[in-house]
Amino acid sequence: MGMLPRVGVVGGSIGGLTAALVLRDLGCEVDVFERSGTALEARGAGIGLHRMTTRYFHEADGMDAGMVEIELPWLQFLSASGERVYHERMNYRFSSWNTIYRGLLQCFDEPRYHLGSEVAGFDQDDRAVIVHLRDGTTGTFDLLVCADGISSQARAALLPGTETRYAGYVAWRATVPESELGPATFEALRDSITYSLLPSGHVLVYPIPSLDGALEPGRRLANLVWYHNYEEGGALDDLMTDRFGQRQTLSLPPGTVRGEHVAWTKEFADAHMAPAIAEILHRTPEPFVQVIYDIDVERMAFGRIALIGDAAFAVRPHAAAGTAKACADAWALGEALRDADGDPVAALARWEPGQLALGRQLLERTRDMGDRSQFKRNWVPGDPSLRLGLYGPGR
Ligand SMILES: Cc1cc2nc3c(=O)[nH]c(=O)nc-3n(C[C@H](O)[C@H](O)[C@H](O)COP(=O)(O)OP(=O)(O)OC[C@H]3O[C@@H](n4cnc5c(N)ncnc54)[C@H](O)[C@@H]3O)c2cc1C
Repeated sequence: MGMLPRVGVVGGSIGGLTAALVLRDLGCEVDVFERSGTALEARGAGIGLHRMTTRYFHEADGMDAGMVEIELPWLQFLSASGERVYHERMNYRFSSWNTIYRGLLQCFDEPRYHLGSEVAGFDQDDRAVIVHLRDGTTGTFDLLVCADGISSQARAALLPGTETRYAGYVAWRATVPESELGPATFEALRDSITYSLLPSGHVLVYPIPSLDGALEPGRRLANLVWYHNYEEGGALDDLMTDRFGQRQTLSLPPGTVRGEHVAWTKEFADAHMAPAIAEILHRTPEPFVQVIYDIDVERMAFGRIALIGDAAFAVRPHAAAGTAKACADAWALGEALRDADGDPVAALARWEPGQLALGRQLLERTRDMGDRSQFKRNWVPGDPSLRLGLYGPGR
């Protein structure tokens, strides 16, 4: 291979770290700039896994996907009264954001993972990309990978007209240690991903690793994701105005949702959710909220600069494939760079069409899944077109 490019990565979450590791393993010098000042440990939320999310764990020496994932043998649907109305063998796998993050971070060279380093902007000419950090310093790279997530400043700079479209609903999220659940609830939920259809939405629950990474039943966390419709304007504005009177756009972290909304979740749970599912909300003092958006991009490659993961397409979570897509973008970039003999501009041109196609396919499919479950209400348990998957239902 020719001279390998020096690579800068903006955003050190799962997409950025996977890109950094894949490119480093090819032989590139890689620096990661992460805005957050701490090692991002506190993000305890669950994620559904596809093989692409954990590909680094499967392929890199000394890594083992068995250390980070929980495999569940069943998918079930519960009625509001708690009756099991559907049951199917499934074998989906789950983990948590911080378990995957911690595993990847351990493999990367610490001095090149720059915490508290916010990228404020960049310029490129035909020889290099200059990155400007918020603290006034700069870095020069041959290739810049922007993995700065759903509110990407890189996307805003490169594709200024891009729309962030509200899907019409938010996700309420809650996690509780399994050890705090009543025995009947624990038994009802322990081996399954559990769904329930609700007025104005649907809810799902699955176990995830504990904050210190334990995977055994009884030591894990029960993780709940509940999608509920809020009309744009009044209802959404009211929910997203936090405890401090600030109108937030993307999320309300734990501890910032106003008390009346938290109280309402418990009333709603009692009225409409299976008792096992309602118990999780009752035992979560500080549930949090993520607003669901669609973001569609026309380009992902800009000379020497790439947008990957949520910085490119942001898709609804119903295929549980957001991190898998970010990782697929990262692995494909490594393959394109190898095939282009280390030339970053040629590599990005070669890489872009396949990743645009992947992002469009996933965006369209998850939009359809969301519209069917939240608005058209024609979600039938067991419909194979609703299976989780990155490349297609169940794939
Ligand atoms: C309700 C919900 C449920 C989900 N469930 C799943 C699931 O089950 N499975 C799944 O695979 N995915 C799921 N996702 C999607 C998943 O969370 C995202 O797709 C994934 O986190 C995207 O990874 P990323 O690395 O592209 O971006 P992010 O994880 O958003 O990371 C972006 C990083 O960039 C940093 N950053 C931002 N701006 C700058 C800057 N200027 N300079 C430096 N650093 C910066 C941020 O601090 C952050 O660390 C879900 C999402 C939601 C909302």
